Amino acid sequence: MSQTKTLSEPTDFSDIRDWVFDLDNTLYPHHVDLFAQIDKNMTAYVSALLQMEREDARKLQKQYYLEHGTTLQGLMIHHGIDPNDFLEKAHAIDYSALTPQPELAAAIKALPGRKFIFTNGSVKHAEATAGALGILDNFDGIFDIVAADFVPKPAGSTYDKFMSLNRVDTKRAAMFEDLPRNLTVPKALGMKTVLLVPRNLETAIVEWWERTTGEDDHIDYVTDDLTTFLKALV
Ligand SMILES: [Mg+2]
Repeated sequence: MSQTKTLSEPTDFSDIRDWVFDLDNTLYPHHVDLFAQIDKNMTAYVSALLQMEREDARKLQKQYYLEHGTTLQGLMIHHGIDPNDFLEKAHAIDYSALTPQPELAAAIKALPGRKFIFTNGSVKHAEATAGALGILDNFDGIFDIVAADFVPKPAGSTYDKFMSLNRVDTKRAAMFEDLPRNLTVPKALGMKTVLLVPRNLETAIVEWWERTTGEDDHIDYVTDDLTTFLKALV
């Protein structure tokens, strides 16, 4: 039986002093779909690099993503590319789909303790995204794929690196993510885990889990509205 909850219970979070947020599809909702642009840029990069048709490039891109956690990691291992050049090109996108979110900014600001962005993207992308949302000033630090030595979440070594660099007491920390697999390690480390899902899907997802077994053991909460979730905690 599922223990996953959709409404935040403030008492569950009263000891939390470090708040760790994924970036894409977590700090802004899934339907904004900024990733569609990044995805297209990555296909173009693979296509140009390997002189492949778009369709074949896309297949390889997705294969590397599945095998290595990020397309970048696959390209580094198999083709020795310059990661900084890749990140620059992948994140050359239009951020105008994002608008300032003063309520979200206030909700993050009101949380007691430190707030971090922990992303498989780049610092530049995180700053541009959080800047467009009007929430950048609310964070104490950004840990990106460069800081992770290009080893993406959900690798345990990358969480260890983030936690030790920032001296995070995982028993008093919470992690917000849109990818369930990225919450497995945080839960094992004793963190509270919150999964962000596309709007209007939270109940359906929890109900689906209730009919399956063990799928949600590492997810304490599911929400489709980060602002409302955070506001209820303070
Ligand atoms: Mg994400």
